This record gives sequence, C-alpha cells and structure tokens, in this order.
Amino acid sequence: MKTLLSNAKVFTHGSFLETNVLIEDGVVFSLSDSISCLEADPSVSVIDYSGKYIFPGFVDVHVHFREPGFLYKEDIATGSRAAAKGGYTHVFTMPNLNPVPDSIENMNEELKAIHEKACVKVYPYASITKGEKGEELVDFEEMAEYFELLGDGRTDDFEKNTASHAIRLAGFSDDGTGVEDAYYMEEAMTRVAAIGGIISAHCEIKSILGGKNVHDGVLAKELGYRGISSESEWKMVERDISLSKETGCRYHVCHVSTKESVELIRKAKKDGVDITCETGPHYLLLNDEDVLKEVLKDKLENQDRAAEKNTGDGYKIKYGIGRFKMNPPIRSEEDRKALIEGIKDGTVDMIATDHAPHSLEEKSKGFDGPMGVVGLECAFPVLYTGLVRTGVISLEKLIDLMSIKPSERFDVEHGIETGMPADLTVYDLDEEYVIDPDTFASKGRFTPFEGRKVFGRCIATYVDGNPVF
Ligand SMILES: [Zn+2]
Repeated sequence: MKTLLSNAKVFTHGSFLETNVLIEDGVVFSLSDSISCLEADPSVSVIDYSGKYIFPGFVDVHVHFREPGFLYKEDIATGSRAAAKGGYTHVFTMPNLNPVPDSIENMNEELKAIHEKACVKVYPYASITKGEKGEELVDFEEMAEYFELLGDGRTDDFEKNTASHAIRLAGFSDDGTGVEDAYYMEEAMTRVAAIGGIISAHCEIKSILGGKNVHDGVLAKELGYRGISSESEWKMVERDISLSKETGCRYHVCHVSTKESVELIRKAKKDGVDITCETGPHYLLLNDEDVLKEVLKDKLENQDRAAEKNTGDGYKIKYGIGRFKMNPPIRSEEDRKALIEGIKDGTVDMIATDHAPHSLEEKSKGFDGPMGVVGLECAFPVLYTGLVRTGVISLEKLIDLMSIKPSERFDVEHGIETGMPADLTVYDLDEEYVIDPDTFASKGRFTPFEGRKVFGRCIATYVDGNPVF
C-alpha cells in the first residue's frame, strides 16, 4: 500500500521543507518534489495537505495510562487514543500501577493490554524497586534480557508480537515517588549502567517536602497551606547527579520544576555527567501567581453565584481548581523563567506531559484531591501558542523538544527520513479554538489549560504509515 501526503511543510533533518511524503509498507519511502507520475498511479492514495505541517510524531517519555489497576481513571485504549489525537506516536508509561511492573510476571497484564489496545507505540517503564516501595530492587538483568528476546521476536508469549514493532522497555522509574535510600539508588544505577539501560527519576524527598498541595510561595500563603519546598526536588537531583557520575548510569530527571534543579543539571552537563531532563507544559507556561488569580476568581464567583465563569470567549470553565494540582506543583515566576532559559540553552532537553488522569470525583476535591492533570491533547497547541507564536522559541525548537530529543535519548528510531518508520503527525497551525476537555479522548478532564485560546489543531496522526487519528 502506498500513501502520498502531498504539499505540506515537512520537518526533516532539523528544518521545514515544502515537499511530499511517500509512505510504502509503513516506512517513509521518499521525500520528493515531483509527484505528477505518483498522482496518476492508481495504486497510490493521495492526501492533499496543502498549507499544513507534518512533524515527526511527538514522543512523550512520561505518561500514566493507569492500566492495570486503575481503569476508571484511564486505560491503554483511551490513553493511546488521546496520544494520537495530540500528535503523539510514542509514549512511555509510568509504573505506578497495580500490580506494579516490578517483574516480568507483574508486567504481563500491561504488556497484554498494550498489544491488544494501543493505537500508538506504547513502551512501559519497569519500576526500580519492588512495589515502588523503595525497600528492595527489581531484577534489572532479568527484565532487560526478556525485552531483548521480545525485540528479536524469539518469545511466543504474545501472538501479536509479529506486529511491525515489538514492545520494548522504556527504562526504569519509581515515578510517583522518589528512591530515598541512596544505597539502593547507587546499586540500581550500577546495575542499570551494566545493562545499558536508563533511569528516569522522580526526585522528591518526603522528609523535607513541607506541604502536600501547592508550591511554597504566594499561593500557599494565601490559602494558609504549608507549601511544597523546592529543596525536596533539587536535593535529590543533586544526590543523583553525583551517583550518576560515580556509576556512569544514563540518568534522566522527570518533570524538573525548580530553578535550582535547572542550575544543577546545567553544571552536571558541563562536568560530562550522562544526564538529561524533561519539564512539562504547565511549568513553562504558568506560575503560582497565575494559579492564585484563578483561586481568587473562583472564590468571588462562588460568593456571587449569578456570576458566569466566562473566560471572555464565551467558554465557561467546567472543571474545578483541581486542574492546577500536580506533582511537582506549579512554582514561582523565577522558576518558570529558569526553565525557559533551560529549554533555550539545551539544559532542559525535552518536554513531557506527565499526563496523569484521575476521575471527576477524585479531582473535584480541589487542592485536597490527588495530584495529576492530563496533557496529551493540548500540549502542542498550548506550547505553540504560548512559546512559538510569542517568539520565545522557534517552531523547529519546539519539534526538537517534543520529538527529536526524546527519541534520541531513549533510542527511538524516529524522524521523517527515507527508510524510517512513518510515525508522523499533521497539524493545521492556523486554526484557532478554545481548549475544551469534553472533547478529549482521555478519561481525564482536568487540565490547567482548560478555556485557553490556542492555535494549532492536530488533523491526522500516522503510526507505521496507518492513520490512527
Ligand atoms: Zn513524577
């Protein structure tokens, strides 16, 4: 089967080229300016994308799809559909599940669900410690060996593993909680280095956390909460940098949110430590003063129930203040600025959504509810509108942060080049609309970007040349 995506602006080898993409048998067969003979060929189905942009599909190294264990929040089918709708072709699922994927046996259910339900490439993380309890390490070697076998197609555990791509292991992570015991982290890094794996660390030290709802700043003061300290994040980043240096382990920091972490990582990179990091759209586009304004508005409106929660575009906010609660929390303007500097100078390598859906009932508890917001279906439009259209970074840079850098760091074969898997997404950058969570494929509805006016709509996503959205 041949498909020709014609007349689009295509991101290839780092820049945009107005060209045509011919897909054959799931791979990019060629990029070509002259297509007249192809258009006349009846075996080629031609799709005209004049005026549209084609990007390598986004790669999110940090999502929560909640299966197995918490299917009322999300599952592999809804999560991967949300990914496809947002332009993502690859997502890495975090292991805070039930059972926690801390052995091949405990990973079986998740692998089966991925095989049966995923419409994009879903790669699972295994945990670092048994049950993510921080008390006993997993058998890293056994898991690495198993996935190598899967990749070679030499195991018959899954009938469908003859699909064009085998499921591979994303890496190891105890996301949701920090590995507090330095002794375990050191041993984990030593062993993961030996198998050539990567550790993605959620950095958080419980004993110096402070509060549990919002950042220790203006918002915490106003609400009368004890705030979450910045130190609880960067102290662990600091420790892990020295462990990574010592062990040579490939090390990635999840959802960096503080200026101190950015500075530590900048220095570690200069020192030659094998370190990368991600941040999320909400840390780049919001600060705790923005959240405070929303809280105050909410209070006012609740006192005067006649007041409409209008955003000015005729859109009425439907979901509560829980849409601003995630871990780590939205920090100060200084932190946000440091993160922007970080993406500009390459200290912050990539943007991951930390897509973390919860039920309506759970999130309706506001700042007392669980941590986590959804992100897959609005990440690109909010970042494109907030950072590219305002001139903070270029469109090429945003694609680098969302597609190229994560694929390079996590060994994903990716890019719109001859011979590569046809994993790509098509965007209309001129379309303007308001983010409405009720249009999401995800089961989650809470996003801090609800009601935001954005540009950029995903109009198609292809995985191995097949349209999945
Ligand atoms: Zn986390």
